[in-house]
Amino acid sequence: VEPILDVKDLDVSFTFPDGQYKAIDSLSFTVHSNEVVGIVGESGCGKTLTSLAIMGMLPDNASITNGSICFRHKRHLVSLSEKEWQSIRGRAISMIFQEPMTALNPVYPVGKQISEVLIKHTKQSRKAIKEQTIQLMKQVGLPRAEALYHSYPHQLSGGMRQRIVIAMALIGEPDLIIADEPTTALDVTIQSQIIQLFRKLKQEKKVSMLFISHDWGVLSQVCDRVLVLYAGQLVETGPISRLVDEPLHPYTKGLIRSIPDRAKRGEPLYTIPGRVPPLKERHRGCPFYDRCRERMEICRTVRPKTVNIKEQMVQCHLYTEEMDVPSS
Ligand code: SF4
Repeated sequence: VEPILDVKDLDVSFTFPDGQYKAIDSLSFTVHSNEVVGIVGESGCGKTLTSLAIMGMLPDNASITNGSICFRHKRHLVSLSEKEWQSIRGRAISMIFQEPMTALNPVYPVGKQISEVLIKHTKQSRKAIKEQTIQLMKQVGLPRAEALYHSYPHQLSGGMRQRIVIAMALIGEPDLIIADEPTTALDVTIQSQIIQLFRKLKQEKKVSMLFISHDWGVLSQVCDRVLVLYAGQLVETGPISRLVDEPLHPYTKGLIRSIPDRAKRGEPLYTIPGRVPPLKERHRGCPFYDRCRERMEICRTVRPKTVNIKEQMVQCHLYTEEMDVPSS
């Protein structure tokens, strides 16, 4: 089956007065129809930058320096003009950010904001647009949608605002939704309601999603597959259940070990020692070398190849293609 999104050998670099530095390095992955693919990694690993590259929204000093991003119907996103982008963003691909206030205008009622996006997509009467807006608000689980139509963003809770943003993202019936930490700013109860909403959208609307999160609990509930990014490189990928139960890469193992465990309440929470190397201090060998407890001499200078082990793909010198049983 042809993927909805096919990212191949993608490099994204930042240009500074002293030179150009790669922040995303040879990234390849696909998203298929009705598939939710998670991206996980610490801050500075390239999760958000990947989504901005796909949306054609990179900051001014960043650019795609190699590779391709192919979207459904063989549209090559890397070479699109800003005008062409306007027919894709919010229509074929839409994005949901962590903090809903950044996507909402504080001085307009939320219903009107949804209606305005609808007006751009359809040629219906005002009355029909308002009815459709209320319908959409109900679909994303907003109570008393008719009354909420006239509310301003500051009058709503964080969870309600995120539902408004999700409603706006659904308007163009996008083929792909990119959600960047969409539940991080919400408290636990609201977070679980929004996760249920994403699950419902996957089941009922058959949307495909790229779901960025640092929270394995959230990823486990929403995603089919997960990409683990470290220092701009894809170090492991596979079905979410495999990565949680049998992580292969030492970085994935560290991330899984860092998940708070109720059974270990009272014990100090494990954290991976060290930090993600800044952009200008990245290794030519394995990017995780400085923090890896299993490192070998070869890891310092030779970049590991990606190998397939069962349903997982891992980029680490500990593994070879011939292995079929993970050594964890
Ligand atoms: Fe550790 Fe070496 Fe594997 Fe990198 S390649 S994760 S340093 S064992």
